[in-house]
Parts: sequence; C-alpha cells; structure tokens
Amino acid sequence: MDHFHFDDGRLYCEQVDLERVADRVGTPVFIYSRATLEAHYDRLAEAFAPLDPVICYAVKSCDNLSILALLRNRGAGMDVVSGGEILRARAAGVDMSRVVYAGVGKTDVEIELALDEGIGYFNIESEAEFENIAAIAAARGTTARAALRINPDIDPRTAHAKTTTGKKESKFGVDIERARRFFATYGHNEHLRLCAVHMHIGSPVYEVEPYVNATERAMQLVRELQEAGHHIEAIDIGGGFGADYQTDQTPAYTEYARRIVPLLQPFKDAGGRILLEPGRTISANAGILLTSVQYMKEGGAKTFAIVDTGMHHLLRPTLYESFHFIWPIHVSPDMVPPARGELDLPGLHPVDVVGPICETGDYLALQRKLPPLHRGDRLAIFAAGAYGRVMASNYNSMPRPAEVLIHGSEAMLVRRRETWDELLGAETNPQPVLLGT
Ligand SMILES: *Cc1c(COP(=O)(O)O)cnc(C)c1O
Repeated sequence: MDHFHFDDGRLYCEQVDLERVADRVGTPVFIYSRATLEAHYDRLAEAFAPLDPVICYAVKSCDNLSILALLRNRGAGMDVVSGGEILRARAAGVDMSRVVYAGVGKTDVEIELALDEGIGYFNIESEAEFENIAAIAAARGTTARAALRINPDIDPRTAHAKTTTGKKESKFGVDIERARRFFATYGHNEHLRLCAVHMHIGSPVYEVEPYVNATERAMQLVRELQEAGHHIEAIDIGGGFGADYQTDQTPAYTEYARRIVPLLQPFKDAGGRILLEPGRTISANAGILLTSVQYMKEGGAKTFAIVDTGMHHLLRPTLYESFHFIWPIHVSPDMVPPARGELDLPGLHPVDVVGPICETGDYLALQRKLPPLHRGDRLAIFAAGAYGRVMASNYNSMPRPAEVLIHGSEAMLVRRRETWDELLGAETNPQPVLLGT
C-alpha cells in the first residue's frame, strides 16, 4: 500500500532513513512519499480506465502545493471546497476546467473568484445557493456549469457519524425527490447551466456496496431527468474510498471498479463524462507524522508517553476516535511490526500516547501496546497524510509542523515549520475599525 518500511529496525520512506530527516528538520514533521501518492493515483486511474474519468483529487485531504503539482502532472483535476483551495489549485497549475467546487456555504467573494477562474462545475447544495450563483453570474455577464449534489439516502457505514454525509437528513445536497423538482425549476437557467449530477456519500467507506446502491439510485434519477428532457453531461460519484489505517482494511481499487464501472458504462458510452473525487485514498497512507517523546510518566495504573505533537496537529483520534498505527522509528530488528493494527508481540506495554495540549481529549492513542519508550525516542504516526496537517491549529499557541516530501533518495522541505514570529504577526499592530471615532 505504501513506501514506508523498516530495514534493520530503522524506518525508511522510499530510500531515506527518517532518523536523518528528523535530525535535520526536527519534530514534529509530516513526511510524504511521492512514490506512494503517484502509485495510488495511477492504480485508481487504471482501475477506472474504462470510464476515462476526470479524477478530481480532494484538495482538503492534503493541500500542500508540491503534492497538488505532482498529482496535476499525473493528470489530476481537483475537488475544492473554498476560495483558498481554488487559489491552491491555480498555484499548482491545474487546468481550471478540471476543478469542481463543492461546499454548502460558498460566499459571494468565493463565487466571484470561481467564476473568474472558469472552474468546471459548481456542485450545488441548495436552491438558495443556486439562485445566488446564477444571479452573480448574470450580473457579471458570464455563464458557468453546475452539478446538483444529490443525497441518495444510503448509509455508507463509515466508521463515525461525523463523516457520514449521504443520508437524507444530512446538511449536504438534496434528496432525490427534491432533485426532480430542482431540475424542473432551475434546469433551464442561462447563466448557471444545470447539467450534471453529483454525490459524495461519506468517508471512509470500507465497502463497495454503498457505492453500488448510491450509483444505482443516481443513474435511475439521471434516466428520469433525461426522459423529462434535461441534458445531463456528467456524473460525479464523489470520494470517500477507504485507506489502510490498519493493514488490509480497504478493498482494492479493482474491487470498487468491478462493481461501479458497469453501472456507469452506458452513460459513458452515450458520450457522458464521469468524475471521481478521491482524497484520503490517495493521501492518507502517503504521509506519516514524526514526533519525539518528551517525557515518560507513570500515573497510577497507567503509563503515559508525552510527545511533541497532539490534537493540534493530528485531530483525527480526538475528533473521530480514529486509529493510527504508532511505532518507534528506530527499534531492535526483532521489534519490527509484522502489520499495522493492535499488536501482540512479546515485550510490549500498554501506553497512552498523549500531547502537550491542556485538554484531556488530547491523545493520539490510548492503551496502545508499544515497545519500551524513553525520552528522546522518535515515533512515527502512520496514515497521517490525509486530514492531518490540513486540520492543524495553533491551539495553545503552538506553531504548526513542517512538511517534507520524499522522492527516492531526496527529501525536500515543502512547507517550513511555522515560526513564533508568524504566530504573533497578525496581532502586532492594532488598527481602529471605525473611522472618525
Ligand atoms: C471531503 C470530500 C471528498 C473527499 O473525501 P475523501 O474521504 O478524502 O475521499 C470528496 N468530495 C467531497 C464533496 C468532499 O466533501
């Protein structure tokens, strides 16, 4: 699944010994593997090749410009959810007609930016939003294309309620019944051409079945819309494909494709376009977070490893109760983990791996069996490439980590560590808000 491996007890990313990187740039630091990012993208593209889809990488999963640029070189479009992400896609040289823009709360300024950039599709989440974008496009004398985000009312059985989006009562999209009325009302707008159907059922989805059910419902709707005289040029089936947080947790791309491709093939063969919006399945296993043990603490019945990162850099364990495999990057060769998951090797001890933030919820793992740890040991937190650095905050006035991209035997600092000066910079020169008072 990825290009992180132990050799003689030392963790490598591609051909780079990660201890050397940590010595140079310090910790905490996110490390990404270019070979992994490219392999995931290529394998996904290959599995879905019969549909010749536009693969719109979900920028929000991992938004570093160097990563966007390498995926763009592979042929990727982008799935964005804000004006800032539109600017990232542009800065990475992405063809703007291959950008799709989702999100329930697009502001006027963001909409104007998207219109000026000539993005591929606005993914529409509500009637009020459609009317607003159409009005702004009309006022600017321009036109744009839109996909209606539908809610197929499928339970994607994601690991956590906070990542379920495709059920009927979610804030995203509109249900199928409302979608029919939506097209009837807005299907002939001149400035915002409603000509595609979009869905995104949640993530991570570890089974193929929810996609099959959702795609069947979407295709049924598309056929009805076509019969009612609407021209549907594209179907966007969203993202949410799983990632291996634990070994072999996720179906292979060929498994997803084997079931999904036949459902969409007739649409494709009739001249339609297919779009995908994968994020984590490309980025999650392509990144790890390196951290150092600051202190070991025995607290009653428990042992704590207090590290130099936490919920402010990797929020997923706190927010989603998610599992991330953790292991020292330098161990004796007989302590190399056979797989990622809960392990039962001899000589392991249960430890709470916690951060420095003043919150009880600031942890990376609870009662995790690990080899004996000491102050100064470095740990790798695996599958941290997606929804890691992008969710990092400055809570407790902590600078956000650096990012390093590995390519073969080369390591590039692709985002420098935030400085204390940057933390204070926006507050150093207070200005009056109301003139004349
Ligand atoms: C977040 C998101 C994605 C990507 O989800 P992943 O789980 O990272 O694949 C795709 N489409 C939309 C609309 C999203 O909000």
